[in-house]
Amino acid sequence: MTEKQPIFILPESTERTMGKDAQRNNILAAKIVAEAIKTTLGPKGMDKMLVDSIGNITVTNDGVTILEQMEIEHPAAKMMVEIAKTQEEEVGDGTTTAVMLAGKLLENAEKLLDMKIHPTVITKGYNLASEKAKQFLKELSVEVTPDKEDVLRFIAMTAMTGKGAESVKEKFSNIIVESIKQVQESGNVNLENIKIIKNKSESVEDTELIKGIIIDKERVSIDMPQEVENPKIALISEALELKNPEGEAKISVTSPEQLQEFINREELVLKQLVEKIKNSGAKVIFCQKGIDDVVQYYLAKENIYACRRISKSDMESLARATGGKIISNLNELSEFELGKARIVEEIRKGEEAMTYIKGCENPKALTILIHGGSEHVMDEIERALKDGLGDVSAVIKNKKIVGGAGAIEIELSKRLKEFANTLSGREQLAVQEFANALESIPNALAENAGLDPIDVLTELKSRHDNGEKYAGINILNNRIENSLDNGIIEPTKIKMQALSSATEVAIMILRIDDVLSSKSGGGQAPVGTGMGYPGME
Ligand code: ADP
Ligand code: MG
Repeated sequence: MTEKQPIFILPESTERTMGKDAQRNNILAAKIVAEAIKTTLGPKGMDKMLVDSIGNITVTNDGVTILEQMEIEHPAAKMMVEIAKTQEEEVGDGTTTAVMLAGKLLENAEKLLDMKIHPTVITKGYNLASEKAKQFLKELSVEVTPDKEDVLRFIAMTAMTGKGAESVKEKFSNIIVESIKQVQESGNVNLENIKIIKNKSESVEDTELIKGIIIDKERVSIDMPQEVENPKIALISEALELKNPEGEAKISVTSPEQLQEFINREELVLKQLVEKIKNSGAKVIFCQKGIDDVVQYYLAKENIYACRRISKSDMESLARATGGKIISNLNELSEFELGKARIVEEIRKGEEAMTYIKGCENPKALTILIHGGSEHVMDEIERALKDGLGDVSAVIKNKKIVGGAGAIEIELSKRLKEFANTLSGREQLAVQEFANALESIPNALAENAGLDPIDVLTELKSRHDNGEKYAGINILNNRIENSLDNGIIEPTKIKMQALSSATEVAIMILRIDDVLSSKSGGGQAPVGTGMGYPGME
């Protein structure tokens, strides 16, 4: 081995950025992501139009949707997208806030890096600030009991302000609160029990809450009634067919009479299935598997409405909505297992037909049927509705609220600055920068509404200094008001999650001082062999 032999520890195709460069690159990428969605924040936020490679268009104001659909390559930027997703999964709203906060934390960290403050000091200070901020957030939260429906409606409206549902947000807030109250079970809300279905037609104002389920199946035979009033409903998970003999069982018949007898016997068995259904009192059946033609024929004769091949999840929704029990064996069927609805009907729109199960008595699963003129409109309405549903269910579970419109951010910032003054050393600077970052939220709310952010922030801060801890900037009338009084209310949980996830990703990005990327994709440095030393066999 010659002395000058180069040592490759990584494949040649690897790109590597180290130290300061890596850090600055990452921060820049994260800042760009935050900047991209900043203009969508708040009631006067603008929408983004996203066009994919085949020309599909999405018009949205929703942070996570924008980020998910942007083709993001940079690893640090991807980490920012991840926090938006986490925020969306955990609480269903507050994604723009979380990402903007992370971007601002990193931007401010850069200032500290310029002052030669080591990243570990910054991350330590940020962690400290985040913990403190969460503690203040708890102290500033107000209890709300689930029976305070007006508060819940305000929460839903705050979530939808500025989204596609703006013009109908009052009606929608009623739908949201009613549906959540209906499906909640001792403070637990499973949003999967609120199905959202879109119906292209009429106007958004016709959007309705259906106390029941809509399934995309038609009745199996047109000889069945198209509409049944006050039916008892059977939910059956087994096939209403003859059980096929496994394998190649041969049946030998020697005469036409024998064959006829065999057919008759089969028919009799099938007829008996229908007899059992009829005797139970069911007028509608939903079957998870197939229904034999002969069974269909006799069901129709009995004026029973039937759908087949219903998905398992729809069967479960049907059970929750109608109060029926899914049975796997017809012998178990009695009137006690049956569900109820005010009406079951097939509604045909063009080519498609769907079955509506409406007017269930105390449904634990229900449907919001969105009406709207176009797919784009309905999609954006759906996102707004989901934000509202997420926020209201968060409050039902967690029972804590804070004032929005920047009020909570300004108050947290103020308290953190006071806390920073009790610290010594360089961590103090990091806590201060954390506090400054929080101001970016009211700042953007004002800026997006065409207000002067400096004026607004100065006024807000002085009001908070005077003890008005819920003073926020109401963008609908451009006045500084008590956010709890004027109904700009948000769940504490959303702010809590935004603080956590923003801090987490900012710290993660700050700790990186080396970025390695292998262009070839497959080429990784061998592990455990002392790495690759070319020329050494
Ligand atoms: P996110 O994705 O973070 O939820 P949004 O675009 O939904 O972003 O905006 C949420 C912000 O808008 C919150 O800070 C909320 O308090 C604020 N907001 C909602 N309604 C008003 C209002 N009428 N005036 C001022 N701010 C408002
Ligand atoms: Mg929101």
